[in-house]
Amino acid sequence: MQQALPVRFTQVIEARRITPHMARITFGGDDLTDFTYDAPDLQAKLCFPRPGQAVPRLPAPAEDGDVMRWYQAYLAIPEPGRPWLRGHTIRAHHPRRTAIDIDFVLHDAAGPDATTAGGTAGGPAMRWARAAEPGDTLGMVGPSPVYARPLGASDWLLLAGDETALPSIGTLLESLPEGARAVAYIEVGDAAEEQRFETRGEVTVHWVHRNGPPAGHSDLLVETVAVGLPVSRPAPPQACPCRPLPSRPLRRPGRPAGTGRSTGSARCAPPPVWRDQDWRTAWSWHLRRAS
Ligand SMILES: Cc1cc2nc3c(=O)[nH]c(=O)nc-3n(C[C@H](O)[C@H](O)[C@H](O)COP(=O)(O)OP(=O)(O)OC[C@H]3O[C@@H](n4cnc5c(N)ncnc54)[C@H](O)[C@@H]3O)c2cc1C
Repeated sequence: MQQALPVRFTQVIEARRITPHMARITFGGDDLTDFTYDAPDLQAKLCFPRPGQAVPRLPAPAEDGDVMRWYQAYLAIPEPGRPWLRGHTIRAHHPRRTAIDIDFVLHDAAGPDATTAGGTAGGPAMRWARAAEPGDTLGMVGPSPVYARPLGASDWLLLAGDETALPSIGTLLESLPEGARAVAYIEVGDAAEEQRFETRGEVTVHWVHRNGPPAGHSDLLVETVAVGLPVSRPAPPQACPCRPLPSRPLRRPGRPAGTGRSTGSARCAPPPVWRDQDWRTAWSWHLRRAS
């Protein structure tokens, strides 16, 4: 059965840089009145206006809430006027202000596939975020709990991702209950991109600095996670729930699929949750201690 997704417009209230390459944009507007935020790691599709449009052209939600019907109407808009859709994470919800925060990574120009414009890289989302001002309007489809991954029960949580996963990792760490344990490996350009998280959990964050290579063109994160996994002690096979870290092709921008692989072995990683789509590099594992 198709799930209903909210389709709304939202306006920029404030745009600021929280680090040199991360813009935090606060959105508000009447359409957010019924916004619900009951789980971390909620993603929405943002709809960016085409040049010349003050407001992106968006079909109204289907009366029966059928998202596929809405998507067909979206695709029926002739391409030059059809808004760009990009996936983003709801970084925070401020119910009293009827506002939400969304963080946008702003990459520097780099790599043969980078769209260079005025010394900056990225596509419509990054270009929009660089220039965002109060009053600017985006469309938003979602978020939906359908795309949220419940944390579930585990002894501890391992999260790994690059800066596009940083907003998601931030919401997950900040949602941890008292005493919940988590280790996060977060790859960013350099020390200036590090962030602080307010959490009740027992959280260790390892920042991995590329120091040069552009995002999406480094194996540093995978290598660091494989080497540094805290649960690596061998245990008797019959009692150990450990499995090898999955060796799976990673999507590496600018490279053929399958050229990047995680190759850790004899680590505890049951069962992996992989998310590496739409340019985002992110993984999470729910781990249980060997009994
Ligand atoms: C579930 C999910 C949640 C996400 N949440 C966020 C979020 O909260 N904040 C956020 O900023 N992003 C987030 N992303 C990633 C975001 O959707 C992509 O980075 C998106 O491609 C950016 O759109 P764009 O229009 O700027 O670039 P696109 O038009 O998609 O790409 C144009 C060019 O920009 C460059 N580029 C784009 N993205 C990247 C990247 N991540 N690394 C390196 N080069 C890149 C490439 O050169 C690419 O060819 C999320 C992705 C997913 C799947």
